[in-house]
Amino acid sequence: MDQAQIDALRARPIAPQKHLIGGDWVDASDGATMDITSPIDGRVLTTMARGTAADMDAAISTARTAFEDRRWSGQAPSARKKILHKWADLIEANALDLAVQGVRDNGTEIGMAFKAEPGSAAATIRYYAEALDKVYGEIAPTQSDILGLIHKEPVGVVGAIIPWNFPMMIGAWKLGPALAMGNSVVLKPAETASLSLLRMAELAFEAGLPPGVLNVVTGEGAVVGEAMGLSMDVDVLVFTGSGATGRRLLEYAARSNLKRVYLELGGKSPNVVFADAPDLDEAAKVAAAGIFRNAGQVCVAGSRLLVEEEIHDDFVAAIVRAAQAMRVGDPLLTDTHIGAVNSEAQLSQNLQFVKTAKAEGGEIVTGGNRVLAETGGTYMAPTVITGVTADATLSQKEVFGPILGVTPFTDEAEATRLANGTVYGLAGAVWTGSLSRAHRMVQEVRTGVMHVNTYGGADGTVPLGGVGQSGNGSDKSLHAIEKYINLKTAWIKL
Ligand code: ADP
Repeated sequence: MDQAQIDALRARPIAPQKHLIGGDWVDASDGATMDITSPIDGRVLTTMARGTAADMDAAISTARTAFEDRRWSGQAPSARKKILHKWADLIEANALDLAVQGVRDNGTEIGMAFKAEPGSAAATIRYYAEALDKVYGEIAPTQSDILGLIHKEPVGVVGAIIPWNFPMMIGAWKLGPALAMGNSVVLKPAETASLSLLRMAELAFEAGLPPGVLNVVTGEGAVVGEAMGLSMDVDVLVFTGSGATGRRLLEYAARSNLKRVYLELGGKSPNVVFADAPDLDEAAKVAAAGIFRNAGQVCVAGSRLLVEEEIHDDFVAAIVRAAQAMRVGDPLLTDTHIGAVNSEAQLSQNLQFVKTAKAEGGEIVTGGNRVLAETGGTYMAPTVITGVTADATLSQKEVFGPILGVTPFTDEAEATRLANGTVYGLAGAVWTGSLSRAHRMVQEVRTGVMHVNTYGGADGTVPLGGVGQSGNGSDKSLHAIEKYINLKTAWIKL
């Protein structure tokens, strides 16, 4: 990545953003807009359409028409594959532009954003482009005078609600399989991270996606997100975000058309380090990156460090060294390790968690404070808090910030008990030189993903989904396709 190129891209003014409905850019039905503020310096970048419920309904009905007339699902699989590959090509060709655009409103450090956003979005779209003509129906093992066929049909209209931490990556996790299977989609980006998704959607049309197959409606979750949730015409709703919103979506489904709802929610992921880990220095560095990159705004962040008592002090010292070596700052500088917290609201919530941790007996060994306030941006120092008990707020509640709580354990049984001691079950890790212990922990810790002697980085070939209050239904891999199809039986008397 070239700093001069990044600087040139960031200097460009951004036009007021509109909804993308039926292939056209349209204003909110009442003309309302809302500011897009940059967490880099607190300045207003531009405005976007503040959608109304009527806007959402219009987008859904456009998506429905596009689905019913089969302008997309009716195309040959080879044609759909070509368009999706072309889309991935365009995302790659515009990768730096997309990444910078995204960082300007979401604040992720560019090094990570470049890889995780356009990079992974393009890879995901390619993966499902390649998969779409390998999804076969089935012939049932019936008696001989019957032919039982099981068709895999698109569900119709998919609603996708996307969070602000990795909008393109998570957006592609939903769009890739949904579009590959022939559905139409209405996408609702987060209020504080719409820019990259709007541009990415525009590229889909340049690639040849028929108008109306993908629509984007911006605005407030409580207004347009709610309208999507309550729609009688959305068949499947896929979501990544907070548990509170996830609960609302289930209620909306119950109050409307019983749409299928798939939730990818938060986590309080345990990173369990045993004294026999192969390389404790490496473990400390990876653990620090696993909680502090993107300012901790990562659903799988390893936010609970469970460390064997005999190495506790040394390991904490190593983590603190690693944390202090990470540069916090302007996310559009290539040597920044930790970018901006996404918003003032999120930053003040983080600081409140620090206060509570202190009040509950935790000791702040590094960080705990806002930094670079003079920039007008929202930055926080990577924070390590020791002496966090199993029932402390910091052990139980997802923070979504650069805050690591440390809890010692004495043996494997206690480590497993602590690891399982929350309502969540998204991700986790175990660091050990013992293969048997690694396998035991993988089986016994209730999560969707367990890492062994590493943290994060799982690619698109494996599912990511939670258990417990971390959600249901996985993104990524061939398994994600199941969310976007219906099984239809044909029972034919011969
Ligand atoms: P976070 O804490 O990560 O911001 P949210 O769940 O609030 O998590 O936001 C994730 C997404 O959910 C965003 O796109 C947001 O606009 C949307 N959202 C928020 N509230 C609602 C709601 N009541 N109904 C539907 N979507 C919502």
